Amino acid sequence: MIMRTVYVNGDYVPENDAKISVFDRGFLMADGVYEVTSVLDGKLIDFAGHAKRLERSLSELNMQQPACLPDLLDIHRELVRLNGVEEGMVYLQITRGAPDDRDFVFPDPETTEPTVVLFTQNKPGLADSPAAKKGIKVISIEDQRWARRDIKTVQLLFPSMGKMMAKAAGADDAWMVEDGAVTEGTSNNAYIIKNNTIITRHLGSEILHGITRAAVLRFAREAQMKVEERSFTIAEAQEADEAFITSASTFVMPVVEIDGATIGAGAPGPVATRLREIYLDESRKAAV
Ligand code: PMP
Repeated sequence: MIMRTVYVNGDYVPENDAKISVFDRGFLMADGVYEVTSVLDGKLIDFAGHAKRLERSLSELNMQQPACLPDLLDIHRELVRLNGVEEGMVYLQITRGAPDDRDFVFPDPETTEPTVVLFTQNKPGLADSPAAKKGIKVISIEDQRWARRDIKTVQLLFPSMGKMMAKAAGADDAWMVEDGAVTEGTSNNAYIIKNNTIITRHLGSEILHGITRAAVLRFAREAQMKVEERSFTIAEAQEADEAFITSASTFVMPVVEIDGATIGAGAPGPVATRLREIYLDESRKAAV
């Protein structure tokens, strides 16, 4: 394996030499936030949106803004360059840092600096994904996450369990359901299309405010497509003409099966396919 260069608290280091403390609150308490920005043609997609959401996540958790915050674009670009990433992702993790002792009480931000880590993942073929041509299968599971899903925290245990439940059921992913309505996918926002109307859950603390979601809905409206932001059930989704998910790493990914029921013709539909094309074209143009 080629050794990556990662960024840790101000330094670019080989991944094997990267160190953080065992007292880091990200490790002990999942007290941290993250962002994932995709890279196409060696450039960052939707960077401004991710940077803005990061600032909001930090502020919602009363976390200190790290000193390198204004330099995050440069750091992302430098890591992409150092690791020769043409297609892939940049992960950014910020925790409340490593105080001297384990304690539930937040450490004094004057003496405990946040921990900042960035690393890249190469994913050749990210845009020209075979899954996007075939569509994916999802199952539904109960949403058992904490209630502040609008904050992008590193507490990914339940989403991770959800992916394993999907895998065990022979599916690709899971849509989570709360009080009878779909919240979102384990690591993506969920959509259905009925009579050419795109339906996706309204924003609130129940879901992550996807950066890809915001862009896709903007492009859809610009293309005169009808959008309804409201909740929907699995039964309604199973009767839909099309379904899809969005995220920074999947862009727009068609869903062709929900809990064993075939959606539409069982292949990616025209609207999801068109939205994927528009999203990829427009984001490539705006990449930095
Ligand atoms: N919802 C959840 C729970 C997620 O983890 C993600 C991806 N991180 C998304 C939605 C999609 O967000 P984005 O488009 O910003 O990647």
